[in-house]
Amino acid sequence: MMAARYHADTRTFALEQVAIPEPGRGEVLVRVEACGICMSDVHLIEGLLPPPIPDVTPGHEAAGIIAAVGAAVPDRWKEGGRVALTPGRACGRCANCVRGRGADVCLDVQVMGAYYDGAWAQYVVVGYEQLVAVPDHIPLEQAAILADAVTTPYAALVDTAALRTGQSIGIWGLGGLGTHAVQIARLAGAAPIIALDPSEPARDRALRLGADVALDPSDPGHLDEIRRLTKGSGLDAAVEFVGFNAVRAQAAAALGQAGKAVLVGLTPEPINLPDPLTIQLRMQEIRGHLGGGLRHLEQLVSLVELERLDVSASVTATMPLTEIDKGIAQLNGRVGNPVRLVVLPQA
Ligand SMILES: [Zn+2]
Ligand SMILES: [Zn+2]
Repeated sequence: MMAARYHADTRTFALEQVAIPEPGRGEVLVRVEACGICMSDVHLIEGLLPPPIPDVTPGHEAAGIIAAVGAAVPDRWKEGGRVALTPGRACGRCANCVRGRGADVCLDVQVMGAYYDGAWAQYVVVGYEQLVAVPDHIPLEQAAILADAVTTPYAALVDTAALRTGQSIGIWGLGGLGTHAVQIARLAGAAPIIALDPSEPARDRALRLGADVALDPSDPGHLDEIRRLTKGSGLDAAVEFVGFNAVRAQAAAALGQAGKAVLVGLTPEPINLPDPLTIQLRMQEIRGHLGGGLRHLEQLVSLVELERLDVSASVTATMPLTEIDKGIAQLNGRVGNPVRLVVLPQA
């Protein structure tokens, strides 16, 4: 089969012919119909995020059709089934895993496309506990992006920020994840929803998708504006999808009493917050966040199925796997402000 492979020692990334993997016990082989391109993949290929294994097929946002089922897989998963794949897999070895506690509390969760081969390939092997059934009327390219670009902000807002109806939220970075965060904040009943991004088209899109206000964070007046919009109180939740210290500092500075800042943008940069005393005096929280779990992906499939959430405009473009370099360049350069670019490995 064809797969896009990254080799850390030589920092090379290329399409290669490799053997179709075989599903082991508790595993299924999935024919990948769609897989998104995420900035984390780009960071991995550029060497900014060191991969845990030296040679890997990236891609952690996939949906497809079950092509083969290994031993000890429950009956509900059959060849031909349409599925979305949650990228996180329990390591099976840590203190929580050996007590049978699952991927949501694993201390060393294995992320698809970094810890094991991902879905920038025609086939991928995952555990059956990573599968979510996708109804026939949801296109698989939409199901694919649910697995990270929507699940990650959903879990960040609903669980990590514990966002409740009527709470105020600031969302920094309106790319693939932050754009969906605006939709989720709207769905969760947050008010006001303040979206921040230097790009005017990204801000306009956020306003169309449910932000009450969209601000340019490079404007030094944005913090005063957030205080005014929250009637002087500051934000209940400040979620950043960028991964720069300057942005983290802005998010933390905008918090109110007991406000929560959630760090979603991945970076190996040390956290450097200018005003730790205010964090203590106002009893604020800084919380890290990674991805989402099976439960979140299942809930999102239901929300799309029951028409509470519309992600039909989120697939900006699709391309065959052979053109993945173009997609990576387009995302990296933010050409045309993509929400998600999706590769179709069977095309
Ligand atoms: Zn991602
Ligand atoms: Zn574990």
